[in-house]
Amino acid sequence: MAIDQKNDGQCESAPIVVDGLFLMFVKTRPAECSACGFDLKKVTRPRCSECGEELTLEI
Ligand SMILES: [Zn+2]
Repeated sequence: MAIDQKNDGQCESAPIVVDGLFLMFVKTRPAECSACGFDLKKVTRPRCSECGEELTLEI
């Protein structure tokens, strides 16, 4: 009598991208684009509005 408690074999580890978190981060501390040095306080999306570099949080 074997009871398989695994409902499914899925083990999703997709990263959750929260734009709001990024925006809060760049507003609460100095941050600039790693590619061009653009002031990220002015961006409204996790992407540099100056050079188009996709931005990620680096702590
Ligand atoms: Zn840039």
